[in-house]
Amino acid sequence: MIDASCHCGAVRFTVDAAPDEVNDCDCSLCRRYGARWAYYHPSRVDFAPDCGPTDIYMWGARRLEFHRCASCGCVTHWRAVDRDRPMMGVNTRMMPPEALADARVLRNGEAID
Ligand SMILES: [Zn+2]
Repeated sequence: MIDASCHCGAVRFTVDAAPDEVNDCDCSLCRRYGARWAYYHPSRVDFAPDCGPTDIYMWGARRLEFHRCASCGCVTHWRAVDRDRPMMGVNTRMMPPEALADARVLRNGEAID
């Protein structure tokens, strides 16, 4: 179980296991966010019941919602507009660094770290 939160602590979630891999996506959006994504089935990501509000950004085909804390602005996760899609992304930058010590860092499918 890994606890993750934005900087101010308003948006908090847990995942059931540390990621084996994180994706340092270099698309036009994620490279600006500086996000490193891990992908989980939504059932494996548990948001705190008193989780603070997020603002959403969408672009392109508008199939994904990129969520950021409405208070501190940290980009915390993305979800598909189609809630049946069996995958979501969590920004592993919200996890404690020690939870990522053994994770491979990928960019375009190649290990970079
Ligand atoms: Zn926050």
